[in-house]
Amino acid sequence: MRSWLPIPADSDFSLYNLPYGIFDAGDQRPRAGIAIGDHIIDLAAAAETGLFGKKRFFKKIFEQPVLNDFIALGKPVTNRIRKKVLDWLCLPQRPDTADNILTSRTKARMHMPVRVGDYTDFYSSIEHATNVGKMFRPDNPLLPNWRWLPVGYHGRASSIVVSGTPVQRPHGQIKLPDAEAPIFSASRRLDFELEMAFIIGKETQMGETIPVDKAEEYIFGMVLFNDWSARDIQAWEYVPLGPFLGKNFASSVSPWIVPIEALKNVRTKGPRQNPAPLDYLKQRKAGNYDIELEVAIQPKGKQETIVCKSNFRYLYWSMAQQLAHHTVNGCNIRVGDIMASGTISGPEKGSFGSLLEISWGGKESIAMADGSTRTFLQDGDTVVIRGSAKKDGMKIGFGEVSGEITN
Ligand code: MN
Repeated sequence: MRSWLPIPADSDFSLYNLPYGIFDAGDQRPRAGIAIGDHIIDLAAAAETGLFGKKRFFKKIFEQPVLNDFIALGKPVTNRIRKKVLDWLCLPQRPDTADNILTSRTKARMHMPVRVGDYTDFYSSIEHATNVGKMFRPDNPLLPNWRWLPVGYHGRASSIVVSGTPVQRPHGQIKLPDAEAPIFSASRRLDFELEMAFIIGKETQMGETIPVDKAEEYIFGMVLFNDWSARDIQAWEYVPLGPFLGKNFASSVSPWIVPIEALKNVRTKGPRQNPAPLDYLKQRKAGNYDIELEVAIQPKGKQETIVCKSNFRYLYWSMAQQLAHHTVNGCNIRVGDIMASGTISGPEKGSFGSLLEISWGGKESIAMADGSTRTFLQDGDTVVIRGSAKKDGMKIGFGEVSGEITN
């Protein structure tokens, strides 16, 4: 495939990707776009030229400030739009419409791509669950249910923000070691969690279940996800009902949703599951995706340090299994719902997806490129998560999700 548009060879946003997002070009008019190289295809402008047929219908859809209504049209429509855009980019020469349709990606401001109705966070990395378990329960790291079902909890949708949004350090109850009573304080153990998330593209009704081998039909696409966590608040509050204020103050997503179809060439097998899952969780197809991930911490005005390199393929439970499990009791899902993977840690030390694990509960400090050290995040630190999939010269990148800690 070849385009008349110059696309940098190492761009995350190649012709094979074509992710959807919501942008404004400095005009406060959030609308739908597709990222390509250093540009954005303005889908509302493209609709106006008649590129997709049904001019007024698509212009109205793409002028909305979230993608929910577009996504709800279903994969036959959303994939046809992608194909039309690809054909347009691969015309033999630059079309006259290009000036109207293209806008500079570096000048655009990105918005939340969807209105999130519900958010679920899973806990699907066996390495992460084991590491955290060792710290919180040394004699009993992996609880008995973990290998039988994708453990998860319902999180807070309203505090999911787009990349670039600052994150204020939360206050709450923390109980210091050896103290009898908790104190009220700013969190001293603020952390990131390296995660990815998928966005629901098709709704179900209450009572309906999604078979594991059909689950990907309900997944529109994927984003990078940082599930900010206040470990001290979390450690005190989480028994017996699980995560609450240690988690719900903010989660950040990358702005471009990579359609699941763009990832078909990097599909791969997940880890061997032992014991064999119950029938409703048995997936015939390879259920994982080979997506390289990294996390950097950049102290304010200083050089960044890569603190983790991991891969989405390490996850024990696949997205299809998560979705089959989520709906097996008849729980309904809606377009725009976000399901996050849980922290994606790999087997080696450099692949741990949170500072809790990297600093082993705050015991080991991490050397930074600017000469400082970290166990947890400091005010002014920006955390950047990046991810991309590569195969046979094709690159499908996710861009990044970043956020700066403020006080
Ligand atoms: Mn999480």
